[in-house]
Amino acid sequence: MADLLDKFRNIQKVHQHVVGLAGRDPLGAPFEKMLSPTQAVIDGKECVLLGSNNYLGLTFFDEAIEKAKTALDVAGTGTTGSRMANGSYIGHKALEGKIADFYNMKHCLLFTTGYQANVGFLSAIAGKDDYIIIDADSHASIYDGCKLGDATVVRFRHNNVADLERRLKKLPEGSNKLVVIEGIYSMLGDRAPLKEFVRVSKENGAYVMVDEAHSLGVLGENGRGLLEEAGVEDQVDFVLGTFSKSVGTIGGFCVSNHSEVENARFLARAYMFTASTPPSIVASAGATIDHIKKNGKELMKKLWDNTAVVYPALKELGFKVGPEMTPVIGVAMPSLEEGIRVWNTLYENGVYVNMALPPAIPAGKCLLRCSVSAAHTPEQLETVVKAFTAAKHAAEAAA
Ligand code: PMP
Repeated sequence: MADLLDKFRNIQKVHQHVVGLAGRDPLGAPFEKMLSPTQAVIDGKECVLLGSNNYLGLTFFDEAIEKAKTALDVAGTGTTGSRMANGSYIGHKALEGKIADFYNMKHCLLFTTGYQANVGFLSAIAGKDDYIIIDADSHASIYDGCKLGDATVVRFRHNNVADLERRLKKLPEGSNKLVVIEGIYSMLGDRAPLKEFVRVSKENGAYVMVDEAHSLGVLGENGRGLLEEAGVEDQVDFVLGTFSKSVGTIGGFCVSNHSEVENARFLARAYMFTASTPPSIVASAGATIDHIKKNGKELMKKLWDNTAVVYPALKELGFKVGPEMTPVIGVAMPSLEEGIRVWNTLYENGVYVNMALPPAIPAGKCLLRCSVSAAHTPEQLETVVKAFTAAKHAAEAAA
């Protein structure tokens, strides 16, 4: 019989295999010094960061840093408990109000991370006899939220409206249904056909939740994500989001116009049984959201201009990129070995990208997951394109 620790031993073998092939650890690269939102010294080498989800490049936003420092002085380093137990700091409430305002919605619940927002909200809202209908390519936090709750989970084919409709129609008449969609999918960077998904969901009596983790500050005229871009803000019931990407810090939230949602605080275990967001994070997230409100359009223009340099260049070089141009650019590799070769060449040419392996993607696959930032300079973009060109030449030479 297998030993309890065999799981760890087995995964260690896989990890060692990856490190052996790469000659370094692509899954634990040491970021020794951050030089800017888009540049760091990694294992002794200066690299352009092309995988950090820092879409608006705001991790060094001076006002956010100042406000965080003040909050540290005034309120300390942490809350040391959940809001149920240790109470809500004034900043928690104010930030919830700010996010609700940003989305033009009435209610907001703050979670400590985006992962917890999905896990907490999904496990709380859908119970026994209810149905959660999710896209097959959903993020792990959506899957985990479903697992933690008692609802029946139905998966539909990625971005396939007809398949969603077919599955909804099979569910018992009158049953409670929640359809869960993502704005931009985190690995391949494709948008959901949200307008159609919303139509089909509403026709079949389902509530709709959209996880806008990768689309806040990226899509929509005001950065309110795919629901703004698709013109369905008044039809989506719940929006999940995170501060860990465009907002440049950490934290999650759920906004809604349904007043009942306020009571999820008493049901979502990922809200009740974990420490609340520290004051410095609350302060920096608030400052950055204000900045996005004021200057988001300009930042998003830079982001999309930069995206329009990188995505077509990689496509032109023959890399297998996702189906549409967004700042999330997943580059599919034919094998783990080839993925590691390309990753290494990019690193040697001063570009760091994320290596995505199962379970983040399907078994047997390897994806170099890139993300463009508004803060990438023209010189950095040139470095990126040159590095991918070098990787292409290296692959051709090895073939
Ligand atoms: N939802 C999606 C779609 C994500 O991609 C992520 C993180 N990659 C999360 C939720 C979790 O967010 P966080 O990292 O802020 O916990």
